[in-house]
Amino acid sequence: MRRLVLKMSGEALASAASDETIDATTVDFLAREIAAAMDRGGLELAVVVGGGNIWRGATGAMAGMNRANSDLMGMLGTVINALALQDAIESHGRPTRVMSAIGMDQVAEPYIRRRAVRHLEKGRVVIFAAGMGNPYFTTDTPAAQRAAEIEADLVLKGTHGGVDGVYDMDPRQHPEAQRFTEISFDEIIARELRVMDLTAITFCKDNNLPIRVFDLMKAGNLGHVLDGDAIGTLVR
Ligand code: UDP
Repeated sequence: MRRLVLKMSGEALASAASDETIDATTVDFLAREIAAAMDRGGLELAVVVGGGNIWRGATGAMAGMNRANSDLMGMLGTVINALALQDAIESHGRPTRVMSAIGMDQVAEPYIRRRAVRHLEKGRVVIFAAGMGNPYFTTDTPAAQRAAEIEADLVLKGTHGGVDGVYDMDPRQHPEAQRFTEISFDEIIARELRVMDLTAITFCKDNNLPIRVFDLMKAGNLGHVLDGDAIGTLVR
């Protein structure tokens, strides 16, 4: 049995084609990938979803808003995304639980570590919403922190913008960029590569938590990761 935390950005739920903040077809695709991964057996899966398709705290702060207030808006955005994902995953026959780091009884369960682990053991996909409940973070850090807390084996960082791993430079601007099959935390920090937030990277380093970065939007990729195929980049 493997326990994994999958981090996906809120923007993975959006669609440029439909111009929707939450695109039903895209969410359904993600839910199918997750349900298919669960159907294989041997997997306990928690999902951390971001909120960048709805709001990013830094955007409001740059426009003069109070940062903590703006971050609260971002965290609420992740709850909306979590509910969309929950609905879609359950439509594929997989039980789920949304656990929120901010108390909202009518919407989601509160995050309680032991309860989260119990849900996972029972085969429910647990969706962690509202990040860590603290401003000044992005959802990368709670993905790493929750993974450590529930004793996950690996963090999966699913990308959505077409970049399928960690490159030595931005492949969208430099076609000659090379993808690493494996890279150390120290090298990511030294080269200032933008894989996840630095806070999350240093957290994973300190807690010996490996990260697999891969293109989540390519059908079958989540399954390939579970097969142990060397797709994307392994950070450890
Ligand atoms: N956020 C926060 N604390 C957390 C997690 C998220 O304050 O623990 C806020 C922050 O403002 C962030 C926003 O929620 O910008 C949305 O999350 P994120 O930017 O990680 O979304 P993503 O880029 O993954 O879609």
